[in-house]
Amino acid sequence: MSERFHELDPDGDVFLVLHDPQEGFALWDDSQEHLPPVPPSPVLEHRVSQPESVRLDSPDYRDQPISAEESNAREQTITLPRDESPSFAEEVLMPLAEKGEIQIRVSSNHLALASTYFERMLRGNWKEGHALRSDGHVGLDVGEWDHEAFLILMNVIHGRTRAVPQSISLELLAKIAVLVDYYKCEEVIRVFLEMWISQLKENLPETYSRDLILWICISWVFRLSKQFTIATNIALQQSRGPIQTLGLPIPARVAEIIDQQRQESIDRIVEALHNLFIYFSHQNMCSPECSSMLLGAFTKEMDSRSLSSPRPKKPFLGISFAETARSIRDMQLPVWCYHRPQRYSCSFDPRIFPIVGSRSMKGPKGLTLDLSLVED
Ligand SMILES: [Zn+2]
Repeated sequence: MSERFHELDPDGDVFLVLHDPQEGFALWDDSQEHLPPVPPSPVLEHRVSQPESVRLDSPDYRDQPISAEESNAREQTITLPRDESPSFAEEVLMPLAEKGEIQIRVSSNHLALASTYFERMLRGNWKEGHALRSDGHVGLDVGEWDHEAFLILMNVIHGRTRAVPQSISLELLAKIAVLVDYYKCEEVIRVFLEMWISQLKENLPETYSRDLILWICISWVFRLSKQFTIATNIALQQSRGPIQTLGLPIPARVAEIIDQQRQESIDRIVEALHNLFIYFSHQNMCSPECSSMLLGAFTKEMDSRSLSSPRPKKPFLGISFAETARSIRDMQLPVWCYHRPQRYSCSFDPRIFPIVGSRSMKGPKGLTLDLSLVED
């Protein structure tokens, strides 16, 4: 059998035509990433935080019916000859193949059982369903998908488990996640998913990157709450602006919340620093000289981090929470005088450290997956 033709069911009544993707998958665009306004500080080490509940009230997009227009956007019915000889596929369909196409013979029963999308298309009142019922078979141009990912999904749907790899790359899993989201067939893939994920989970990236976005997509589509919280936490801490969703099925609301929380966390730090500045401007230390010296040093440290004037404001493009917090922890503030009898030094440190060290200022948490986080 040619690798351009795959017969997953010899009695299959659906002939899928699949084209090579013309564009790369989930392309990362460096020009969309915001550069830091000053040379970047070393990135804060990632710490896994407890999830914070995020409430999103929109209806679950998964329950929304798929319109016929939506269907027509990708699939096209292919007119097949009525005479289906035993060599129909090789003799008739194969020569029709253009470069970059593959054809897959599959079963409408399997497709409809596994996928809500195909169920509606082939069992409902769509033209594809009518063609199938009147002719006994239907050809379907499913458009451009990654061939390997599509074949794995079709093999899973048809119970051809020996043809399904035991381990796959993150890239391939993300491609499968896109298909599962599109065809609404999460249930059928789950048994393989656990096996694949168990081999990938050690590789969750610790920095904001394209791989991290792939993980957000995978954990969202497959409802992996732990991985979703960890991955979104890293994005919240380390992104310097709105995250790139790379055309993946990541709800716009998820990206919005990540950026909102990034901005709010940075805003809390900047607000606390400016309140501290006002406090020290009016607070006398042990002497006027001491107060002036400490306030001067503090102002200098703020200036060198572009935190004082102009005061950074939302949307804080180019600024990440992790870099900001790290930069403040690294402030060099002098111990101006030591009071031996009372055993204390005049210093701002005890008031500055809590800004980035306290529980409320530790920064954004990852998003919680359950109930919320739906497409609007
Ligand atoms: Zn003093």
